Amino acid sequence: MEDITLKKADRMAQDEICYADIDRMAQDEICYADIDRMAQDEICYVDIRSRIAYEHGHIPNAVHMDQELLQKGGFSLPKEKLLVVYCSIGEKSKAAAHRLNSMGYRAVSLSGGYRAWLLEEYAELSREEISRYERQMILPEVGTDGQKALKHSRVLIIGAGGLGSPAALYLAAAGVGKIGIADADVVSLSNLQRQILHTANKLGSNKAESAKESLKQLNDTVEVEAYPYFVTPHNISAMIEGYDFIIDAADNFETKFLINDACVLAGKPFCHAGILKFEGQIMTYVPGDNPCYRCIFEEIPESGSIPDCGQAGILGAVAGVVGCLQALEAMKYILSAGELLTGKMLVVNGLTMQFRKVCFPKKSKVCRVCGEKRDILDVSANAAEYERKACVIK
Ligand SMILES: [Zn+2]
Repeated sequence: MEDITLKKADRMAQDEICYADIDRMAQDEICYADIDRMAQDEICYVDIRSRIAYEHGHIPNAVHMDQELLQKGGFSLPKEKLLVVYCSIGEKSKAAAHRLNSMGYRAVSLSGGYRAWLLEEYAELSREEISRYERQMILPEVGTDGQKALKHSRVLIIGAGGLGSPAALYLAAAGVGKIGIADADVVSLSNLQRQILHTANKLGSNKAESAKESLKQLNDTVEVEAYPYFVTPHNISAMIEGYDFIIDAADNFETKFLINDACVLAGKPFCHAGILKFEGQIMTYVPGDNPCYRCIFEEIPESGSIPDCGQAGILGAVAGVVGCLQALEAMKYILSAGELLTGKMLVVNGLTMQFRKVCFPKKSKVCRVCGEKRDILDVSANAAEYERKACVIK
């Protein structure tokens, strides 16, 4: 006890407070639960942390007070309000509240500081979750509400390969509440160059199951559902129904058209991507007026007309960049932040480092799934088209 008191006194001495004030200052503390019960227009929060910390996140409407200015004086705060002073964990704010009281204000220190406020405010999130996600939660585009939205969101990733690996890892790391991952293939040695969800000890394991294990190791608060079988015209509609956003990380055109058509018909947003050699392309579809994948590419290419990654090659880092962009699109959709790649295709060239957007502002009137005379009304009725195998990549 003595040690603690002396340490406190030492710290306070630095703030020009004498030992005799320690007991009295303890009574000048208030906990957040008590403040929450008070009329909020009678309170003014005063943040005495660094300017950078304040700019990264503060209690709404709090004013920032530089500690140097606090000592010098020459500032004005609302005298009619109760000043609730806070620092990071509630140590320095006691001295600051004392200083303000000596200047004629009514001030109290927030017990536990900004951290205590965060814990109350983020009650739906555990202490561990707040620590885990604090770097993204200080972003105004995320914050408390955004983190809760991520926690309540469900993203399905079709394909646990070169694109699905980085997408799944970043979504799990960010705290997406539920991740579904579908893949019927097994892990082979040639996958490990780019499919970073899988490790050498998983050779021969199903990719969806291997992905689940890796994601749980990264973040066990995320629910992961593995679908260790092929996505088909007969099972896709039931599969996507339970998700808010779909990531097309498939490696063949049949599956890409199937995902597109099923998502358009079900009114599900999704992000398409494709990769080959050093290039990648990515676009997002959200139900509404923006074009779908079929609006742009119309029909599944003839078998063998376009080389696949097994024939033309792919650099793992290119898949990594594009898969990360897919995760980013999913998160932006969930957070309602920024601008999605709807109505445009981002084309990434890893050799030249050119990123260019090709705009497709309108739906195609002749699109078979979303156009005026659409004839694809049910993917299972159109099954024969998707079952044609154009390319199989191992
Ligand atoms: Zn369309």
